[in-house]
Amino acid sequence: MREEICTECQGTGYVMVAAPDYYSASYGYYLQDEQPVPCRTCGGTGYVEVWEVEAGFEEAA
Ligand SMILES: [Zn+2]
Repeated sequence: MREEICTECQGTGYVMVAAPDYYSASYGYYLQDEQPVPCRTCGGTGYVEVWEVEAGFEEAA
């Protein structure tokens, strides 16, 4: 098993998503913008564990 940079977030651990409208108390109006959220693919680590596929692997039936 090894780790590779997550292709979903390019290794940043976050992905930008369109945020739903939400009311900002500090701004006093509804905001709609993109916001970073932890990448689900890698769990926010930026890396994903991949299993090395062994050549000639045969599953025993
Ligand atoms: Zn990721």
